[in-house]
Amino acid sequence: MDHFQLRDGELYAEDVPLARIAEDIGTPVYVYSRATLERHARVFREALSGLDNPHIAFALKSNPNLAVIKVLQRQGFGADVVSGGEMKRALAAGVAAEDIIFSGVGKTYREMAGALDAGIGQFNIESEEEGHELAQIAAGKGLAAPCALRVNPDVDAGTHAKISTGKAENKFGVPIGRAEEIFADLSSRPGMNLRGLAVHIGSQLSSLAPFEAAFNRVGELVKALRAQGHTITHVDLGGGLGVPYKAGDVLPSPAEYGEMVARVTSDWGVRLMFEPGRVISGNAGVLLTRVIRVKRGGNGPPFVIVDAAMNDLARPALYDAWHDIDAVVPSGARMTANVVGPICETGDTFARDREIDALVAGDLAVFRTAGAYGATMASSYNSRGFVAEVMVDGDKYAVVADRILPEEITAAERVPDWLE
Ligand SMILES: *Cc1c(COP(=O)(O)O)cnc(C)c1O
Repeated sequence: MDHFQLRDGELYAEDVPLARIAEDIGTPVYVYSRATLERHARVFREALSGLDNPHIAFALKSNPNLAVIKVLQRQGFGADVVSGGEMKRALAAGVAAEDIIFSGVGKTYREMAGALDAGIGQFNIESEEEGHELAQIAAGKGLAAPCALRVNPDVDAGTHAKISTGKAENKFGVPIGRAEEIFADLSSRPGMNLRGLAVHIGSQLSSLAPFEAAFNRVGELVKALRAQGHTITHVDLGGGLGVPYKAGDVLPSPAEYGEMVARVTSDWGVRLMFEPGRVISGNAGVLLTRVIRVKRGGNGPPFVIVDAAMNDLARPALYDAWHDIDAVVPSGARMTANVVGPICETGDTFARDREIDALVAGDLAVFRTAGAYGATMASSYNSRGFVAEVMVDGDKYAVVADRILPEEITAAERVPDWLE
C-alpha cells in the first residue's frame, strides 16, 4: 500500500496534488511520501516482532536522501552503508554511529579508519585481505573493530544477474567452504572483535526459498564455529526482499519473510540484523514527468517522449526493469505506446509497446515504484543536470534535493590555461 492515489480523477501524493508539485518545482522530479516510508518501516518492524530485539539498518544505497534517512532514523532504523560518503550521510541525518553497519567489497584504508574513528557499530568484512587490513588499522588505534564475516553461500537468488550477490562467482563475501578457516585466522588477530556472520544474496528476490537456503547454511556455520570455541553473538541477514513493480506481481510479504526467519533462526541465540532497502523505499516514491511530445508516423506504436530520461531513472536501461506508468489526470482513454526519454541513445526507453493511459503533449505522468535505486543512480548524461527530489507529508511538501542545473555542473569544470 502506498499513498499515491487518485482523488477526484487526479493523482495525489498523500494530500498534495502532484500537478501542484510539477507547477511549483518543475519536472522531472522525484516525489517521496513520508507516510508510505513510515508505513513500510512499521510493517517491516512488525514482521520481525517474533525476534528478540532485531537491529534494522536501512540500506542507504536504495535511497540516501537525507530527509528519507531522517524519517527512518525516527522510526528506530539504523543504516547499512557501503561507502564513506554514505556513512557521512547517515551521521548527518542523525543515525547513531553504533547503529551503522559498513558493507562493501572495496572499503579503502581511509574509509575504514574514518569509520573506526566515528565508532560505527559493525563492519561486514568481505574478504580475508580486508580483515587483515582492518585489524591492523584498528590495532594501530588501540581499538578492536566490531565485525561480522560476510559469507557467500553459493545460492542462486533467482533475480536479475546484475543484482545477484550470493553465487560463488560473485565478488561478495568469503566462500562459505573457507569461512571456518578465515574466521579462525581473523578472530585471533589484535584489533579484531569478530563476533558474527553476515549474508546478503541479492536484491529484488521474488521468493523466500533462496533466503531460506542461504540462512540454513549460515545456521550450520554458526554451530560449526561455536563447536570450535568461537563466540557468535550477531548474525546479519542482509536485505533483498522484492517489491511489486507491476500490477498483479505477487511477492512474499514482510510478514511471511519474518515468519520464515523466526522459524529458521529459532535456536541460533544471536542478535539478528537486517538491511532492507527497496522494500522500505521502493513504493514510497514516484518519478513525476511531463510529456514533451508524442511522435507518430513510424512503423510501430507512437513514441511518447517525456522529460525524464535514463539519467534520472536508470533501472529500465540497466536491468530492463518495469515501472508502471500512469497519467496524473487520466482521461479514461488508453493507448499503446513506446515511452522514451530525450537522451540520444536507444537505451533511453522506459516502456516498449505498452498499453498505458492516453497521453498528449503537456500531460503529466508518473513512473511508479521509483523510490529505490532511482534518484541515487542519476547522472548528468547528455548534460541534463541532476533531478530534484521532494518529500510530501500530509498536505505539505518540501524540496529535499535541489535540481542541479547543467551550468552548475559545468562550473566545476576547468579548461587548463595551456589550452586557452
Ligand atoms: C544493496 C544491499 C542491501 C539492500 O538490498 P535491497 O534489495 O534494497 O533490500 C542490503 N545489504 C547489502 C550488503 C547490499 O549491498
